[in-house]
Amino acid sequence: MTITATQAPGPVSSTVDDTSNGAVGSTGNGAVSGTGGSTANGAVSGTANGAVSGTVGSTANGPLTGTVHENVHLLPQTRQLRALHTVIRDRHAALDRFVTTSGRIIRQLIETALDLLPYEPLDVQTPVGRTYHGLRPARPICGVPVVRAGESMEHELRVMSPGVRIGKILIQRDKVTKLPRLYYSALPADIDRHSVLLLDPMLATGGTALAAVQVLLDHGVAEDDIVFVALLAAPEGIAAVHARHPNLRIVTSAIEERLNENAYMIPGIGDFGDRYFGTDVPR
Ligand code: URA
Repeated sequence: MTITATQAPGPVSSTVDDTSNGAVGSTGNGAVSGTGGSTANGAVSGTANGAVSGTVGSTANGPLTGTVHENVHLLPQTRQLRALHTVIRDRHAALDRFVTTSGRIIRQLIETALDLLPYEPLDVQTPVGRTYHGLRPARPICGVPVVRAGESMEHELRVMSPGVRIGKILIQRDKVTKLPRLYYSALPADIDRHSVLLLDPMLATGGTALAAVQVLLDHGVAEDDIVFVALLAAPEGIAAVHARHPNLRIVTSAIEERLNENAYMIPGIGDFGDRYFGTDVPR
């Protein structure tokens, strides 16, 4: 089992192999060096319901049992992240706290997903007359939320990057066939030129994710150019997605124990869309 313990947003701190402010792969002046850093494949993970344990690949409630693909980037299970999860997993969380707190986690997820995209060198002149050898995204970025829950992530992405392009996909389970059905999509005509952040907070069975990925592939987007961003992921959903798309990268803040008989994640969060938009039944 391999889970990449992705470096938290912020400067990579593990390796300084070049003290100049230039080379991609060094951390001398903030250049991106990919996933890993101090936490790469190391002492990250832990459990949502217990002490952070230092075991790579724990689930929300204990050690991971199934095989998880190497293209799963699990946010470092810091105490801070667990505190945020504690707020949103609480069934009594008020709507405003649920929205702001899930938004804080979503921003971490998006920062991590952005770090997985390709970058190219860009030099800029600083106000004190020196050159900073920086980076910029090598391809334009397009966010594609799966309506409706994914729009919570669209909101954060647009705050972080107001000029980002946004597509939409609406997929719902057909009441008769129980299969995911595409109802609507609106994507940039040149989406195949973009790096795509596919946004859906809940990766449960993987049915919707697979259907959404297929829409992107049908529009010419390469599997390698898609990063699926999910707040919670079930092992069943991860396995389903990677059985068909092994190169698809998934960024998540928690890997849950399993799905229950109603395809809700356990320990889970309930219906994310209902809780985020306030359409759940008052308790
Ligand atoms: N969708 C949700 O909103 N929650 C789950 O647990 C699974 C799917």
